[in-house]
Amino acid sequence: MGRRLGQLDALDVTELKGVGPKTAESLARLGVRSVLDVLMYYPRRYVDRTNQVSIADVSPGDDVVLIATVRSGRTVRSRSGRDFVVITVADASGALDITFFNQRWRLKQLTTGTTVALFGRIERYRGRVGMTNPLVDRLGTRVGRIVPIYPQSDKERIDSETIGELCAETLRRSGEFDEPLDEALLDRLDLVDRTTAFRGIHAPDDMAEAAAARRRLVFDELLRVQVELVRRKRELERTAVGLTHTVGAGGGPLVEAFHEALPYDLTAAQSRAIAEIVDDLGARAPMHRLLQGDVGAGKTVVAVSAMLVAVQGGHQAALMAPTEVLAEQHHLGIRHLLAEFTVPDTAEGSLFGQAGMDRRLGVALLTNRTPAAERRRILADMASGDLDIVIGTHSLISEGVEFDSLGVVVIDEQHRFGVEQRAALRAKGAGDAVPDVLVMTATPIPRTAAMTVYGDLDVSVLDELPPGRTPIVTRWARTPAEESAVWDDVRAEVAAGRRAYVVCPLIEESSKLEVRSAEETFASLRDGELAGLGVGLLHGRLKADEKDEVMGRFRAGDLDVLVATTVIEVGVDVPEATVMVILDASRFGIAQLHQLRGRVGRGAARSKCWLVGEATTPDGEARLEAIVRSTDGFELAEVDLDLRGEGTIMGERQKGRNDLKLASLRRDREWVVTAREVAEEILDADPDLVDHEVLAEEIDVLLRPDDVEFLMKS
Ligand code: ADP
Ligand code: MG
Repeated sequence: MGRRLGQLDALDVTELKGVGPKTAESLARLGVRSVLDVLMYYPRRYVDRTNQVSIADVSPGDDVVLIATVRSGRTVRSRSGRDFVVITVADASGALDITFFNQRWRLKQLTTGTTVALFGRIERYRGRVGMTNPLVDRLGTRVGRIVPIYPQSDKERIDSETIGELCAETLRRSGEFDEPLDEALLDRLDLVDRTTAFRGIHAPDDMAEAAAARRRLVFDELLRVQVELVRRKRELERTAVGLTHTVGAGGGPLVEAFHEALPYDLTAAQSRAIAEIVDDLGARAPMHRLLQGDVGAGKTVVAVSAMLVAVQGGHQAALMAPTEVLAEQHHLGIRHLLAEFTVPDTAEGSLFGQAGMDRRLGVALLTNRTPAAERRRILADMASGDLDIVIGTHSLISEGVEFDSLGVVVIDEQHRFGVEQRAALRAKGAGDAVPDVLVMTATPIPRTAAMTVYGDLDVSVLDELPPGRTPIVTRWARTPAEESAVWDDVRAEVAAGRRAYVVCPLIEESSKLEVRSAEETFASLRDGELAGLGVGLLHGRLKADEKDEVMGRFRAGDLDVLVATTVIEVGVDVPEATVMVILDASRFGIAQLHQLRGRVGRGAARSKCWLVGEATTPDGEARLEAIVRSTDGFELAEVDLDLRGEGTIMGERQKGRNDLKLASLRRDREWVVTAREVAEEILDADPDLVDHEVLAEEIDVLLRPDDVEFLMKS
């Protein structure tokens, strides 16, 4: 038997040679507490001595790795009065000056005699060859062709060399590791074994070994997450009892009638998603599906189809939206779509003698501001089953709200909802049956990332927009002169009978400041650039009926321009709006910009989106360029992931505390897919992991419950 990770997890770092309480404390601040943490403290990069060049051989413009010894260091003051540090390093062939700006601490770090690896570009400066602000790694006395460089903090007294020694000791004392995977699987995926992997990541003989080690360990990380997600998902499917809806061909008579009454044909993607949902609904296990579709892809029709399956079987459906504006919008739209529909009246009292009587399909809106009397009536109708579809905000899940028989729950724009809220709504199901749940999101998220973040959900994707949309043209007005063209454009569109949104600068720190700035923007546009047009203001601090009134007037064309904060980000649907102006656009994230832009381009007329203002950061610049270049939510999601890294998806609090230490949802996309497939394969053959004892134990040790909770949150 080899070494198990659980055993190392039980050993405190102080078990290692030379680790006393002080060092242990410093290590703890790096997140290293157990010997397992040491083993899994992976190098950030490697210095490959075989790539090193001699100082005598470098020329300006080369990107090089130099290994050299520090000769001397000094501070120099430039003519403009700036201090900088110059370190002279030398190897057997010659010497070179390295200049560091704004890094005085380098004098302390790079003392005479220190051996360092320098990565950077050779430059010529005032006739001398040197390097400026290169990457520097202290190598200490380590030998070997490949030197691993560990993440270290200059504040802590732990350097890369010390960590390397701890890793070496851990490997030496561990010997062979137990292998969690079958040899056949490793062969098929061309992965090295566990022991080779741990050695190869910490002490590779060449870069190919390090790369092979990384592949294996990345796969292990992703596999553990996927096994856990798939296991939980299957567990839920096995144990939870849902309603078995009667679906029939095409989803059933009511669903078919609904589709026939639509003024357009469903897109192929909509039909496919509806078929997938209908399949789920006809099965005993509760549906737990994510409907992903870009803005404007037509998710509402899919949601209504799902709800009608419940209704035609005599159950009820609920649709929960994140804001009141959105709930109202959905209510208007859905009531309109279903205006002509009836259902058999099965309410008590009408059961006798009136067989075959139909009543109107009941759709109601329930929000925090539904007047008390109306609210009482709606609640009574929900409880008796006279209401078929209820649309609302989170007030749908408040105390005292009861359904007669809740069959399907749709949650729109689910990223705005918390876990608890979703759980509460599911708990409203009839009797023991868990209602079927469909969550919808337009938040672009790359497919492989979705597989991890929404790992417990089945996913349907609307990857096709309804036909006849003219793509939105996006322009970036960087200068004040260009900005004035924006307002000309708004005026021209309004003159042609169309409408515009103006989104105010985002002020994340304070909603109060944001409102104030929106009010200012509103006043200055109304009295200045847009004088003479009907300009309205919408922000989150308006009272509900004020919001209603403004939205209503904009929808009716009584207002030409709606100045708004991001309250209009999701869901708002006014087909006559053809211009979206986003002020100070570089402050917004890619997903948000994409959502905002999705408010236009909803009718047949050609729509435009104006991004206004200079970018304030390089990332901001890249974001705006991406938005100008592409209207494809998935492509933008990939760009976002590239720009922002994992944090985007895993959330800030997730950083550094999950099992994904090496794996990057960005770089290792294909491995996510493979890990999912292998996880399913393993659990198909061995649902309780009895033949995969090592793997099961590692999942227990490495996936903290709250990590899994987080991954499952959606
Ligand atoms: P989202 O996915 O953003 O929620 P909606 O459901 O609001 O999209 O649909 C956007 C617009 O597209 C609506 O005006 C809707 O009537 C229209 N629409 C939906 N499906 C189709 C279709 N198959 N053909 C034409 N128009 C459609
Ligand atoms: Mg929508």
